Amino acid sequence: MARIKEVRDERNPGEELTVNGWVRTRRDSKQGFAFIELNDGSCLGNLQIVVDQDTKGFAESTKEISTGAALTITGTLKESPGKGQRVELHASELKVLGTADPETFPLQKKRHSFEYLREIAHLRPRSNTFSAIARVRNAASAAIHNFFQERHFLYVHTPIITTSDCEGAGQMFRVTTLDLARLAGIQTEIDYSQDFFGKAASLTVSGQLEAEIYATSTGPCYTFGPTFRAENSNTTRHLAEFWMVEPEIPFFDLNDNMQLAQDFIKHVISHVLETCAEDMEFFNLRIEKTVLETLQHIVDHDFERVSYTDAVEILTSSKKKKWEFPVEWGHDLQSEHERFLTEEHFKKPIILFDYPRSIKPFYMRCNEDGKTVRAMDVLVPRIGEIIGGSQREERLDVLEARMKECDLDPEEYWWYLDLRRYGTVPHAGFGLGFERLIQLLTGMQNIRDCIPFPRTPKNAEF
Ligand code: ATP
Ligand code: MG
Ligand code: MG
Ligand code: MG
Repeated sequence: MARIKEVRDERNPGEELTVNGWVRTRRDSKQGFAFIELNDGSCLGNLQIVVDQDTKGFAESTKEISTGAALTITGTLKESPGKGQRVELHASELKVLGTADPETFPLQKKRHSFEYLREIAHLRPRSNTFSAIARVRNAASAAIHNFFQERHFLYVHTPIITTSDCEGAGQMFRVTTLDLARLAGIQTEIDYSQDFFGKAASLTVSGQLEAEIYATSTGPCYTFGPTFRAENSNTTRHLAEFWMVEPEIPFFDLNDNMQLAQDFIKHVISHVLETCAEDMEFFNLRIEKTVLETLQHIVDHDFERVSYTDAVEILTSSKKKKWEFPVEWGHDLQSEHERFLTEEHFKKPIILFDYPRSIKPFYMRCNEDGKTVRAMDVLVPRIGEIIGGSQREERLDVLEARMKECDLDPEEYWWYLDLRRYGTVPHAGFGLGFERLIQLLTGMQNIRDCIPFPRTPKNAEF
């Protein structure tokens, strides 16, 4: 059995082989031939199958060969006279494994909106756009692992269930234990109604604090896993469940961190451009006509590094803009400000650094000015923030004071503070939202279309 990508790219005329897949279209010629476009998801393109009256199994099943039907076909490859394809398969035998009733199968020739496809889970990967997104996601995942593995980072699996709210933003989903014993009428000493076995636990908003434990023991590491935030908002860049890549590096400062973030993004983009050329052409043609140009520009240029204070200055002195949200030192930038900086002012990705301490979480390294912390956000055109990171506070006394300032109980974080008690070192890291990276790579407008099963306030079903 051969995958269609392999057949299209590597197999030669004269070879006999078997392929499996689903019918995309079928055309019948007056001379008794049929042309079937077969797709198996391994690539965007189809394999053209030429069937005639001598093909075993064709005559008896001809009515069943319609869009969506699953087939297995054996035949001989021939050079194709058609445009855009090197080879076609002349079928000697054909079997229909599963039919798709043309009356009810919704993926006929007509194109569906992304909103419609989002509602019918199985249709998404059967469409060109979503199968291409799935392949880009796959290639980007591989690139992420390659990037860190080549640099000898350790892949650490941080927990999903946790008691710490790393970001302090109150966006945690609480975990509860179903009180099965009570429902079954059984007496038990454990009070299951107390959330997680008597403790309050939640789904993780970030693996950073745990990653710090490994970084400061076994060296540079990264996590890459699901992350959860109770985002009860309806934006095109927030999900309730998303994947985050979080490297954490000891003996590292904010400058090292900014360099790493830039190298990392460029590496992933280059890998995807190289390995998903056909899918990327498709996105450029059908989804966002500047996507290839934008990505190449990102790969070819350094990101602009701008302090938060300078960014505020640029935004407030820009005469031509009327802001919906006012710009004021000490407030977080809004999407309109981020887009202005990346799309109109610098026209490329920027790294904003040294944010006001009051708007950032407790763990960031305080600067000597007493007002700012060594934070960095990477912003990209069209999307805005894609990475949030920082150098971490390595001084025990400063960290304890900061925790109190943020209303956190240092005793609950004894394990985190111990890292500063024993062999503390300057260290830094960042978190990249994987689906925002997929938005950047594909040109898709809505983050919900960048994950196979989007979780939003309205959908946890499929
Ligand atoms: P935003 O300002 O967009 O809400 P954030 O500052 O709350 O993001 P961080 O805590 O810095 O996010 O998380 C690191 C990265 O994770 C972000 O830069 C972003 O790429 C991604 N991210 C954060 N929240 C979400 C979400 N709800 N859905 C998808 N990705 C997210
Ligand atoms: Mg947020
Ligand atoms: Mg933010
Ligand atoms: Mg952030």
